[in-house]
Order: sequence, then structure tokens, then C-alpha cells
Amino acid sequence: MTEHVDKRRRVASPIVSTNTDDEVGQPHHTVATEANPSGAYDGLYLDSVNRSVLDFDFEKVCSVSLAHTNVYACLVCGKYFQGRGKSSHAYFHSIHQDHHVYIHLTTLKVYILPEGYEVTDPSLDDIRHVIDPKFTPAQLATLNCPPARGAPAVTDLARRPYLPGFIGISNNNHNDYVNVVVQALGHTPGFRDYFMGTDLTGRSELVQRFGLALRKLWNPRAFRGQLSLHELLQEVFKTSQGKFTATSQGDAADFMMWFLHHLHRGLGAKGRPPRTSMVYESFQGEMTVTTTPNRKQPVTMIPTTGNDGPTEVRTSFLVLSLDLPPALIFQDEVEKNLVPQVPIDDLLAKFDGTTTQELPGCTRRYRLHRLPRYLILTVKRFTRTNFTTEKNPTLVTFPVTGLDVGQLTRFGIEKEGDEPQSCRYDLVANISHSGRVGKPDSAYTVDLRRPTGQWYRIQDLNVETIDPQRLFLSETYIQVSIINSLDAKMVKHLERTGYS
Ligand SMILES: [Zn+2]
Repeated sequence: MTEHVDKRRRVASPIVSTNTDDEVGQPHHTVATEANPSGAYDGLYLDSVNRSVLDFDFEKVCSVSLAHTNVYACLVCGKYFQGRGKSSHAYFHSIHQDHHVYIHLTTLKVYILPEGYEVTDPSLDDIRHVIDPKFTPAQLATLNCPPARGAPAVTDLARRPYLPGFIGISNNNHNDYVNVVVQALGHTPGFRDYFMGTDLTGRSELVQRFGLALRKLWNPRAFRGQLSLHELLQEVFKTSQGKFTATSQGDAADFMMWFLHHLHRGLGAKGRPPRTSMVYESFQGEMTVTTTPNRKQPVTMIPTTGNDGPTEVRTSFLVLSLDLPPALIFQDEVEKNLVPQVPIDDLLAKFDGTTTQELPGCTRRYRLHRLPRYLILTVKRFTRTNFTTEKNPTLVTFPVTGLDVGQLTRFGIEKEGDEPQSCRYDLVANISHSGRVGKPDSAYTVDLRRPTGQWYRIQDLNVETIDPQRLFLSETYIQVSIINSLDAKMVKHLERTGYS
């Protein structure tokens, strides 16, 4: 203690103390910044910076006043405080706790308190990079390539190796359903690169926090090889008006739809939804839904059209929802339950334009007209009633590469004589659900492919390698795939010829 006080006196003595402004609630630029007269003593204070206690994944809010503006982190103990003027919480903390180095969490400028002068020492750049990691286009391009031979392993502050992009995300309460969706979208190359490499200033808070979360997920200079989505979760809770919380497990597919919709809206200027966006350009496809009334059944789901014939509606989609056949649980000779399996080919036949889906009062057929660059498939596993949620545990078998969605859905047949076109997709992320809904064993995992071809399974903070042949053994729920480069030209062609 005595030593610290001495240090402060040594630095403070040459300074003419004129900075009496309290910047609480004031824009940053209105605050007079005292120059560091010599800089000679910075090292004494900078030595007290303790990187091992710094965690910038939390929401930027003052630990005393709970205010969101002008928040500084004390680089000695990691706590957040508002302001740096003489009546500010950071100022008092510097005097009472003898902690002197503070970083503004938005401007990333570092100040010595209580003296109030700025230090521009480049030795703090690693901290700035952890708060707000930045990627150049060249760095983004490397995310899709296997690492160069002989490249040194990336390590965290404690020199533990980790793989940027393949790190665990903490599940403090029940936010695993959000984590897996962020992980999956964070491995959808062009979509991810847009959110990581674009200046998102002026976009919605949700968009900005998602971009920051992805940059942290892929940060090769992180202090810890794991991530907390605290900041994003706060914004999800706020924007969804409490529908999606971190304290009770939500449905990952519901969240995925909500999230994509709100990212799209949030990319517009001044809060107005844009006509198109990176969300639509990545995931949007188009189909025709043909509804035929079934007069033998009560009409409940058909819009009144004034005639009894089939109606056709052309519509866009971000997700294709696959229906599972009813689960018949067999028992083998040792009375062990055998879970049924179904190939994904059978489920995709729903969209071939001729297969009919039976609904109360009508039948429906679906024909695809435009396939997106990145295809999201969800498997309808859950049936909700007023009292319970039933889960269908049927396993879905699927190829990891080359799933020909074009052939399976007879894509490209617009008139008689047309041939279906190949449109193959390679899986990039596979989200599965295990356990019983609403019970403690209910959990989500995500499988992610590395450019090396190696697959990883991530559940909360646990990251392990997995044989791709075994992915189907978990109850797949959401799959994100990228169109095979050989077929991508065809999709581009369709986009240009006016389906959008
Ligand atoms: Zn402190």
C-alpha cells in the first residue's frame, strides 16, 4: 500500500491538476484530457495491469451506477466504472482501491487516475484487441483455409492452446440454445465474414453485438480460449421483450428464425427494414405452396378464396422445415429400444412439387424455385400441446458433403420436359438436441467443420473432435450447409434471372 501511494505521488507531482470535469453522462469529447507531462512513470502503473482478471465479455455497464455511458474498465481488478472526472465512480475507485489504470470501453483510450492523463503505450494494444478484435479482409480470407504448415499453435494468456472459431461458449443458465445458433452462423463463411468485416456503426444494437461476438469467437489473440455471450444475450432478451432469455432454455429453431429476422431488420438504416440484406442474400430461397381443400374434413387452415380449387402462393423462405414420420419405437430381443432411422432424402421429398402433405382440411404441395447459397434445414422434432412438448427421437441419416438437394426436390422443373438440376450442399454446422424437453438433461450441441476437414463437437465449454460418420447418431435438429462451388454458378444465374 505504502509503495503504491509513493508511486502515485511521484507521478502526480509534476502534473498541474486542471482536470476537474466530471464527465458522467457527458459525451467523451467534451472532457479535457490532461497531458502526461513526461510519460516517464507510466511503466510503474502499467506494471499493475493484471490481464488474468480481465474479462470483457460482460455488458458495458458501471458496477456501481449501472449506467451504460462512458464506462471504463479498471485494468487492475477488471471492474467497470462510469466516468473519470473528480466525482466519478472510477475516480473514487482509483483513490480508495489504489488502482490507477483505466480503459474507456468504447474509445479504447487508456487513462491514469486520479491524475487523469492519457497513456498511449502500445504495450496495451493486446487489451484493446481483446475488447474489440479487428480483422482485415486478408485475415478473414484465411478463416476458410487450413492453417499454413508449421504455423505456431494459438495459445491463450495461460499458454493453453486453442483453436480460434472452435472454442466453447459458456452456458451459465440455459442459454445453450442461443450459443449453438451463434456458433452455426459463425461458421457460415460469407455471412460470417460480412458481420466480422463490415463497419456496423448505425445498425441495430443486436447486429453490432452479434458482429462483436463473432470477432471474439475467431480472435487469435484472446486472453481465454472460451467465450461468454453475455452482451449479446442481454440484447436478445431486450429486443425479444423477454421471449428469449438466458434463464430458461428456448427452442433453437425458433430462436434461429427470430434472430435471422431481427438481424435483417437491424441491418436497415434508421430502424427501417432494408429491402434486402446479407441475411436474405445468404439464406433466402423461393417456393410455391399449392393448397388443395379436402372437403371431407373440417376446413380450419385454408384461407377463404371463394372457390374450392387449389390455390397457389409464391413465397420466400429462410428455412426449410422437414417433417419426421411418426416414431415407432421397436424393441429387440434384449428389450432394448431401437430408435428408428430415416434418410434425409425421404424428408426432402416434401419439396419435390408432387409429394403431398396432409394437414387438417387440406393437402399441400411445395415446389422450390430458388435455392439459397446457404441452406438451413430444420427437423420438426417437437410437438407442443397445452401441457407438454413431445419429442420425436427418430434419427436422420445424411451425407456430410454433396447432399443433392436439387435432384431430391426435382429442382429446376418449371415446365413439362424440364430435367431436375443438381444442386449439392456441403454441411458446415449441425445442431442436435439431446435429452427431454424441459428436463435438466435437455441440451444442445453443435458440430462444426474445420477447413482441414476435421469435425468438432461443442457442448457448452467442452470441445472435442468427432468422426463425421457419427454425426447422424445424435438427434439432428438444425443443419446449415453451403452450396457446392460447382453448383454455385447455377444459383447465381437463377438469382440474376429475376426470381427475387
Ligand atoms: Zn480496480
